[in-house]
Amino acid sequence: MTTFTAPKGTFDTLPPESATFLAVRDALTAPLRAAGYGYIETPVFEDTALFARGVGESTDVVSKEMYTFDDRGGRSLTLRPELTAGVMRAFIEHKLYAGQLPVKLYAVGSNFRYERPQAGRYRHFTQVDMEALGVDDPALDAEVVQLAVAGFRAIKLENFELQLTSLGDANCRPQYREKLQSFLAGLDLDEETRRRAAINPLRVLDDKRPEVAKQLTDAPLMVDHLCDDCRKHYDEVREHLRDLGVQWVEAPRLVRGLDYYTKTTFELVHNGLGAQSAIGGGGRYDGLSKELGGPDVSGIGYAVGVDRTLLALRAEGLIGDPPARVQAFVVPLGDEARRRGLQIVTDLRAAQIPADLSYGGKGLKGAMKAADRSGARYAVVIGDRDLADGTAQLKDLTTSDQRAVPLTDLTRTVKELLS
Ligand code: AMP
Repeated sequence: MTTFTAPKGTFDTLPPESATFLAVRDALTAPLRAAGYGYIETPVFEDTALFARGVGESTDVVSKEMYTFDDRGGRSLTLRPELTAGVMRAFIEHKLYAGQLPVKLYAVGSNFRYERPQAGRYRHFTQVDMEALGVDDPALDAEVVQLAVAGFRAIKLENFELQLTSLGDANCRPQYREKLQSFLAGLDLDEETRRRAAINPLRVLDDKRPEVAKQLTDAPLMVDHLCDDCRKHYDEVREHLRDLGVQWVEAPRLVRGLDYYTKTTFELVHNGLGAQSAIGGGGRYDGLSKELGGPDVSGIGYAVGVDRTLLALRAEGLIGDPPARVQAFVVPLGDEARRRGLQIVTDLRAAQIPADLSYGGKGLKGAMKAADRSGARYAVVIGDRDLADGTAQLKDLTTSDQRAVPLTDLTRTVKELLS
């Protein structure tokens, strides 16, 4: 018989490690909830055109990496490669802009990109994403950047750097783009890079190949060509960040993989991850709502890669032993005890004590082995004779101390011992 494996570039997250995944995901979103961001869930697939327009036709994500298919009704759909476009679609569709601004949203979920798989780069990965929509205020930019950093600080991550720049806006970027293009035209570049320079010249600035990089040392930079508005905006963002004690490095060559960014743009880079070092990134995207047929309102947000954050935690030695699956384990011996076992374990659970039961009619030895493996602190052993006496044997699995406890007091006793 053929067996199956997870598709190339994907992986399973299994217990007990999956508990760390959930803990990290929740820790990364806790600062968002504390700052008034509300949870939004959007479909895993959307109209293909949404991403083509929202992410940008010239990006690698849209031109090479999308999982696109026709459904049975002949509609072209795409598994989402990122979360922002879907959130913006919902913002426009439900006219959220008509209410109190900014609209603060966060989302958590699966993304799909047909990438070349390697450590930290997968075809299915999970992001925490947040968006603050409808207000263009440097203080809001600073809040968003600070929250991204706060998420990582909450999980005790240390060896990362905040890289910050401004990408200008519709006013100053086109002029800068021309300047950069004429600079690039004078360089010795291969055909493919020339083509990229014509479509998306900013992307060329990020080229790490030595033969290209060495020709770029004197390239004009966006931060030196910001219009007065963008310059003032960027100065104010940095002032707020200083006030908040957030440290950053200026990254004038930072470009992001997605086309829609304007003004404040940032990336969080971890130094223990090798080539795939970005653990998160984001920025302002003031043209996106309009581009998607909505009102001309601004937006800013970021996305953090949960899978890469886990790799970063591991690189810093911050992943400890996974927590025990349960805290109490019931071992019923004999027919009558087996009948009562499920009831007893259900009572323990009702009292918020994570608990499990030995299933499958195991004998004492096998059942105690299962109790040990469960990670529980206490085993509740019940033989038919105990049951006749109305008691259970409560065994501390770390010390092997054992004592008889009346069944009527069992839940209360375990609860007290665990607190
Ligand atoms: P992006 O949407 O490309 O700005 O990515 C935001 C974050 O998502 C990155 O900083 C990564 O942490 C994560 N990420 C992006 N692409 C992948 C991928 N293929 N595999 C794993 N994580 C990814």
